[in-house]
Amino acid sequence: MTAPWAYPDFDEHEAVHLFRDAASGLTAVIAIHSTHLGPSAGGARFWHYSDPADAITDALRLSRGMSFKNAMAGLPMGGGKGVILADPKRTKTPELLAAFGRSIDSLGGRYVTAEDVGMTDADMVAIASTTRHVSGLPVAAGSAGGDPGPTTARGVYLGVLAAIRRAVGRDSAAGVHVAIQGVGSVGGGLARLLAKDGAKLTIADADDRRARAMAAELGAIAVPANEIMTVEADVLSPCALGAILDERSIERLRVAAVAGGANNQLATPADADRIHARNILYAPDYVINAGGIINVVLEYLGQGDRAEVDARVGQIPGRLEAIWSESDASRVPAAVVADRMAMKLIGRG
Ligand code: NAD
Repeated sequence: MTAPWAYPDFDEHEAVHLFRDAASGLTAVIAIHSTHLGPSAGGARFWHYSDPADAITDALRLSRGMSFKNAMAGLPMGGGKGVILADPKRTKTPELLAAFGRSIDSLGGRYVTAEDVGMTDADMVAIASTTRHVSGLPVAAGSAGGDPGPTTARGVYLGVLAAIRRAVGRDSAAGVHVAIQGVGSVGGGLARLLAKDGAKLTIADADDRRARAMAAELGAIAVPANEIMTVEADVLSPCALGAILDERSIERLRVAAVAGGANNQLATPADADRIHARNILYAPDYVINAGGIINVVLEYLGQGDRAEVDARVGQIPGRLEAIWSESDASRVPAAVVADRMAMKLIGRG
């Protein structure tokens, strides 16, 4: 077995913890990339990996991303990520979640969890039975916290408007054509906000019925999932999978800007240069999609209410503007500018 620090993605992680609880069947990884700015925060993923090494790679990549995301969002938190290795049927029991909570608790607050792929707010409640280092719990109306999806969608919406201002030269989304890949929690929320503004929407989802239902609701056009990346539009908003911007797809883009909520959109570091070389405005994913983590971190810290969350999410367009201006001035790709800014903030620049 490869030692975690020999993984290419280890990248100076402070710690990588491996957990096993035989009674509940829990196998989990908690990767802590940085606690420079505060306790590491990042969601927990519940996923089946045919090769367990992929779970470690996922945890490493995602926790580094959380360091950058939290730093750029101005949160007093470091970056970490939990991954629970599910069985092929993805059986989830209260005992398994309680055991995961004990694992988190054993770290004494150095890692704070929340929802990620495969986890719900009900799961967070189960985890909270054995640790207090958990956020994304159901909350009362008006309070910070709860399901991060809608707040992420709001931040992405504000980021898309910023991209429209800069790349399309328009002050609103009215009449502007936005193509959205994936209309789940984030992409669906974004589509609704843009539709209210009178944007022209083309949408796609791997679940074709979901795309068609939303298209009917919003007066949008639904296209097959394999066509959305090549739609001619003003903005492409990836809100489904990571690694969708690669050599081949970037070459075929027909948009002025890419601004969406999906994590890790660039397949490789070289794709930052490719998108820049095509003169397509790119919104670094962890900057534009920070709304959800802002929401759950404020919940965890017990600081503030919905208004405070909204005020902080409202700073996302300004951060993007700062990155784009620096990118223009230095001719360095926006994704690289963002990474450099984040590295400086976590004391590694
Ligand atoms: P979700 O599961 O609610 O929605 C994802 C949607 O994408 C689903 O409808 C799915 O059918 C669709 N999809 C999957 N593969 C597709 C493909 N190849 N083409 C088109 N559609 C496809 O997930 P979500 O919470 O909306 O998250 C979407 C993305 O945003 C993910 O990359 C996630 O990591 C990222 N993100 C989410 C949050 C959040 O708060 N939920 C925060 C930050 C980042």
